[in-house]
Amino acid sequence: MSGAKGQPRGRRALRPRGKLMAEDTRRHHRALVLQHLFREGPASRADLARTSGLTRVTISDLVAGLLEDGLVTELGAPVGSRVGKPPILVGLVPDASHILTVDLLPDDRMAGAVLNLAGEVKARENLPLEGRTGNDAVMLLRELLRLLRKATDRPVLGVGIGSPGVVSAEGVVIDAPNRGWRDLDLAGLLSGELGLPVFVANDANTAVLGEHTFGDAEEAGLLLIRVGAGVGAGLIVEGALVQGHRYAAGEIGHVQVDPDGADCACGRRGCLETVLAAPRLRARMVGTTATEAERRLADAGAVLGGILAPVVGTLNLHELVLAGPTELLDGALREAVGRTIRERIMPVSADGLVVRTSTLGDDVGLMGAAVLVLSGVLGVS
Ligand SMILES: [Zn+2]
Repeated sequence: MSGAKGQPRGRRALRPRGKLMAEDTRRHHRALVLQHLFREGPASRADLARTSGLTRVTISDLVAGLLEDGLVTELGAPVGSRVGKPPILVGLVPDASHILTVDLLPDDRMAGAVLNLAGEVKARENLPLEGRTGNDAVMLLRELLRLLRKATDRPVLGVGIGSPGVVSAEGVVIDAPNRGWRDLDLAGLLSGELGLPVFVANDANTAVLGEHTFGDAEEAGLLLIRVGAGVGAGLIVEGALVQGHRYAAGEIGHVQVDPDGADCACGRRGCLETVLAAPRLRARMVGTTATEAERRLADAGAVLGGILAPVVGTLNLHELVLAGPTELLDGALREAVGRTIRERIMPVSADGLVVRTSTLGDDVGLMGAAVLVLSGVLGVS
């Protein structure tokens, strides 16, 4: 079939496949080496060849390229190696380049940080949000990124942003009602202006990546519930982030838990958010005794547990992480979540389930934003 102007449709989109595949293969091999150094620490070229299954020649070539880029350095021989010709260890250079990260979840400010390749915070910048939405919020984000870029003298690997709302895999904010953003190509817009790779993802998805890479997460299935002005969830199953059919996986905050409940920002009633969002939890505890406050937190935890039980039962998740204000989440609420889930699903499904708070505290979103860049540019996570 021909197109309107006689050109076969799609023909022009074909790429020089052979060359591209060779480049893809090299990128993949380079990522394998970086991933090993990122996860396991320094290694010799022989170690890298053994663990990657690549030849010594290929590894030497890849390491030479990484040395030239300054991403890795030779660290000398391992401690305790024998005389003769000890292997030279190669290690990642954490400050070879820096990552600019932004967490758009807080409703009072835009939180930004500069992180190095090891996820260490090197600088922080915060700008008060003062109710800005739409283009004003984009302008504030530009200003924050300008400050972050000034805060580092290292080359910048890329920009990672966690945004509320539904965000496509390409970094288009499809719908973020509380920022007044709809079909906003935030990644495209900013990468064009900055000349840097920019990655944008939903804030709860970003947080679960942060917990998975830099927190104490294990490999067997992780659900992170992020509690702030709203409630969202990020899910990693079998090592992969679950994005969903329309990128809206994890939008658990607007599951109705009480048809007669309080009005919700989405226009419906009694959503999980009306029970669990941090401002709602705090409001419910005003003027109560310590015992009563604890009981109310446990009630909220039981509601959350009730919503999560079918999810945990279906996916046989290993870890459930609560991220948000620990004074609210880490105690009666967390205990009630675990108790309720165990009551409602088969022991075999709940066996070994861990319910805990994030070890990364408020930084979980910023760390996750760094993971977007690390995985997007270097292929490590
Ligand atoms: Zn709602």
